Amino acid sequence: MLANRAVPAAGISIGITRKCPLSCAHCSTNSSMDSEESPAELYTRFVDTFSVKSHPKFMAMSGGEALLRPQLVRKLAVKARESGTKSSVLSGMFFARKTSISRSVKAAIDAVDHFSVSMDEFHEREVSRSNVFKVIGRLLDDGISMSMHIAGRSNDDPYLDDLVHDVQKHFGDRIPMLVNTLSPFGRAKAFVIRVVSKLDKPRANPCTMAAWPVVGFDGVVAVCGNDDLIGCVPSHLRLGDIRTDTWPEIQARCIGGTMPSALRTYGPEYLQSSFGKAGSACVGYCNSCISLETKIALQNLVSTHMRKPGSKVLSDSVTQMQVEMGAVQFAKRYSHPRFAELVLLGSRQ
Ligand code: SF4
Repeated sequence: MLANRAVPAAGISIGITRKCPLSCAHCSTNSSMDSEESPAELYTRFVDTFSVKSHPKFMAMSGGEALLRPQLVRKLAVKARESGTKSSVLSGMFFARKTSISRSVKAAIDAVDHFSVSMDEFHEREVSRSNVFKVIGRLLDDGISMSMHIAGRSNDDPYLDDLVHDVQKHFGDRIPMLVNTLSPFGRAKAFVIRVVSKLDKPRANPCTMAAWPVVGFDGVVAVCGNDDLIGCVPSHLRLGDIRTDTWPEIQARCIGGTMPSALRTYGPEYLQSSFGKAGSACVGYCNSCISLETKIALQNLVSTHMRKPGSKVLSDSVTQMQVEMGAVQFAKRYSHPRFAELVLLGSRQ
């Protein structure tokens, strides 16, 4: 999946519920059991618009806690597969607190092509490591393809080395790991501070996150999964709504939309400095991007620029370069660089 992460519309991420039974202090989506959840029909209607001719390669389901809706996860995975889409689900493993996995949760895990587990010190306060490892061992024995998403407080957090070592001690090289550090989203805003610097002359810095559309808990489809956009996607980062739009429409806006394409080619700070008014720079990469919503003149200039034939060639070349750089380089850029090679563990290639 990571090897395809830079390819526009190769995948789609779907948040199928914001609800979660855990109360992790760092939760980026600020989830609880009172959080919102859209009707299942919204998601099934949208996945019904995938076809053999037009479908994403990957559909990544998450939450909240996606496995609070095991029947929906299973249904979407089965439907998506009929068109040729592979699916995955990411879980905080709330069900590992009990000794057995319910039949519906196991059926959902069996239905997807890949199962990912979130783990960090905050999750471990809710579900113990030994319980999670027991379930992982059982699923691996059942032949489930698995990976782990691991987060630490900072780059030098000793928790990361400890957990990675423990995973490898228990499971050898069978589990790929994507290791990250916390960002100030959701409840983590209360204790994580992001250091941002203002660049005098920003260089092009493509946003690969703008390659796969993300369906929010309200059904709105955004260019990326920035958690600051939950419930308030700005117009220039909005690709549509799964209530009314089809996959081919979302795919076309993702690939051909001038703003998504410009963000993937140049990144927001470069767009601001090259097409915006002098002195109107915003501090920070994603902050600059979100602030482009009100800059209509800039959006028009970007649109004209991206419609030039040369811009399309450049945009395609930027994508191709990232594809050639592969999954490890992607992980070096968007997760903890020291652990980037771990994404290749368990690889069947
Ligand atoms: S730069 Fe824009 S498109 Fe990219 S992740 Fe940030 S908010 Fe999303």
